[in-house]
Formats: sequence, C-alpha cells, structure tokens
Amino acid sequence: MKEKEQMEKIVSLCKRRGFVYPGSEIYGGLQGFYDFGPLGVEMKNNLKSLWWKWMTRNHENIVGIDGAIITHPKVWEASGHLKSFVDPLAECKKCHHRFKADDIDGKCPDCGGELAEPKNFNIMVKTELGVIEEEKTQTYLRGEACQTIYLNFQNVVNSTRIKIPFGICQIGKAFRNEVTPGNFLYRQREFEQWDLQWFTHPSEMEKWFDYWKEERMDWFKSIFTHPENLGFYQHEKLAHYAKKAFDIEYKASPFGNKEMEGIHWRGDWDLSRHGQYNGKDLSYIDQETKEKFIPWIIETSGGVDRTFLFLLIDAYEEEKDRTILKLNPKIAPYKAAIFPLLANKPQLVEKAKEIYNELKNNFNVAWDERGNIGKRYYSQDEIGTPWCITVDFQTLEDGTVTVRDRDSAKQERITANNLKLYLEGMLNK
Ligand code: ATP
Repeated sequence: MKEKEQMEKIVSLCKRRGFVYPGSEIYGGLQGFYDFGPLGVEMKNNLKSLWWKWMTRNHENIVGIDGAIITHPKVWEASGHLKSFVDPLAECKKCHHRFKADDIDGKCPDCGGELAEPKNFNIMVKTELGVIEEEKTQTYLRGEACQTIYLNFQNVVNSTRIKIPFGICQIGKAFRNEVTPGNFLYRQREFEQWDLQWFTHPSEMEKWFDYWKEERMDWFKSIFTHPENLGFYQHEKLAHYAKKAFDIEYKASPFGNKEMEGIHWRGDWDLSRHGQYNGKDLSYIDQETKEKFIPWIIETSGGVDRTFLFLLIDAYEEEKDRTILKLNPKIAPYKAAIFPLLANKPQLVEKAKEIYNELKNNFNVAWDERGNIGKRYYSQDEIGTPWCITVDFQTLEDGTVTVRDRDSAKQERITANNLKLYLEGMLNK
C-alpha cells in the first residue's frame, strides 16, 4: 500500500471512530491543533500511564512532578529560549509568503519569485497576565515541559529522601509557534511531552547516558507492534554543553525517519544557568562525602502525540476485507468487547450484560449488539480491541463464552467466570 494513502486512511479512521478530531473544526479548523476523541483519550491515557508506571515504579530513584504551564518569564531568558528558540524563515520578495528556510532552496515554491535572506523568528507562544491593560505582564506558554523540573530540583531534594543519582519525570503540555505545522499529530502547536531529567555526579555521566539511551529504546520496543522499525540517529551538530545526543526514531513513517524522543547530554548547563539568573546556588551536597557540586543532567524528552501517531501507523494493517489496528493490548482503548450473539434473544442479552457489567469494573470494555456478529468483530478490529467475547446459546447451557483474538481471528471457549483472570493474564504477558 502506498504510504501516503495509508496515512490518509489513518487520519480518516481517527476521525470516523473517535480517536482524533481536527481542532476547532466547526469554525474551519485551526492549523496545528487537534482534539482527542472518546477512543483517543483512552489510548493516550493508557500510553501515558504505561510510561509513568515504568518510570516511577521500575526505577526506584525516579519521582514525578506536574508543573505549571506558565512560569516566570525569566525562566525563558535563562534557558536561552528567548534568544535561540528560533526558526529561520525566508520571505518571497514577490508574493511575500514565508517559508521555513530548511525546507526550501532557491525560488519561492508558490510563485517562483526571488527569496530574501532568511530571518529568525522566535517560536515561543506569548501570553499576557493581568486584567488592566497598561499593567499586563507578558509571559509565555512553556516551549518545553522540562523547565519546571529544573525549577523544582531543590524542592524535590528538600522534600523527599532522594539522593543522587536520581530522576524527576513529568508529562505535560508544551506550545510552539511552529512555522510549518503538519503531518497530522507529528508537528503541532500544542502537544504533550514526557520528560525525564536524570541528575548525576559528573564522574558517572557517561555510564548513565549509555544506560538511559538503551533503557528508553527497550521501552519503546516493548510497546511497538514492529520494534524493528525503531532506531537511533546520532546527532553530529551538538549544543556547546553536549558531548553526544541521540534521537530514537520511527523509521517507517510516510514522511521518512522521524524523531520520537531525544536523549540529551545537558551537563550542568540548566542548573548553572538558572543559578546565574536567579542568583541562588543550585548545587547539591552529598551527605556522605560532603562534596558540593552542580549535578549533571541526562534528559530523555519525547513526544506523547508523536508516539501515539507512530503507534497507529505501526499497528495499521489491511487483511482481505478487514482493517486491523494491531495495537499492544495494554495501549488499545478497549480491552474487550462483549456481544450477545443475537440482539432479539433476551436471555442472551441479559447474560451478556451481566458479563459486561462485571468486567467493566476492571477493564474498559465495549458493548455492541447491532447487526451481524461478523460486522461487530470487524468494527472492533478497526479500533484495536484485542478480544471479542460472545455470549451464545451454549453459554446458557455450560457457562462458557467464545473469546476471539483480534490478530489471528481464532476463537476459543472460556468459562465466563474466568474471564477476569483470563484478560488479566493476557494483559500482563
Ligand atoms: P523537531 O526537530 O522535530 O522540531 P525537537 O528536536 O525540537 O523536534 P525537542 O525540543 O527535543 O524536539 O522535544 C522533545 C520531543 O517533543 C520531540 O522528540 C518530539 O517527540 C516532541 N515534539 C517536539 N516538537 C513537537 C511538535 N511541534 N509537535 C509534536 N511533538 C513535538
């Protein structure tokens, strides 16, 4: 299947089945903004909760925070964003359209006119605080979520028993006036990031950098349908404080190899800069050795929405007359769908409802009694529901139901009373 065509099908499936809608659609849309629908929000929450649990429970030295979206404007001076968070734009001298300089060469793609020298445009999203016009303070929606982690580094050290090496993680929104939003969820103006900032003694930087690079890749591999589509990209151009930087890329997107997460060597840059700008010493004192130092930082900074999009692309398959989202069951919006074989047989409906009501205490489950059973299976395949449970006449006799597997379409009979254990077992595989 042509990749572009596949992308169009995914975008349309997302809207038709309630994963993702274009932002402000009834007003003609707003470029770079999307809303997550009933299935999308379930899937996104599953994804974020997997990440969160993996960070905080699999690594005992990681704690989480949830910082404010708006911070003191000085934060962005200190971080360098006001000066260097820029996209160079070239303006056409004839039609005055502007283009991201990295994306074009030579003439204006719209009218063929001559392009002026590129100028830098800052992509921070400005906002104002205060109600009296002359007294408003200008500030910014955060351009990256991680800054609040640096701001709270000392608060976390002082309010917990955590000791270096340790990590602070966060999931949160970020905003950028992207010049060329596009490729669906890939480049938006409002998006969500998941970050880990790992604080270490400088002497252990190398070791921890390698550890996090592999650890993050292993995690992504554990959730993708085709882990072979993931790879590293090593940056050659580095920030002055960085010794190395890698991206974890998804290599099978319709628009090429694309970054999903960055693994960054940040050294003492962030804490030193905030120390300089706020006049406070942000060093750490090792309680055993009494050594005082500015911790060095390894950052893993990824995009929730990009991961969501790449998971959909990776899971999408067409097989004869059915479309399947082969999503990892842990991420799928519904874990199971429950059907009475026939909607006009009250005994079947009643029994199926009983099973549905019981399972929904523990899992997000779907109910469907419309149309023929084959159509109901296909409808669940298309949204990635891993198991379909059907109540039929045999259920009334021996208490068993059929459980159909999404990927193989094979069915087995299971005792209805064991369904909770069965689903738990399958989900923990
Ligand atoms: P790019 O080079 O693609 O603009 P970046 O290197 O600026 O990305 P970072 O600042 O390192 O990205 O942000 C960390 C992560 O946040 C990225 O790996 C990506 O997954 C996500 N991200 C960044 N910008 C966007 C965006 N405009 N829309 C959606 N996700 C984004």
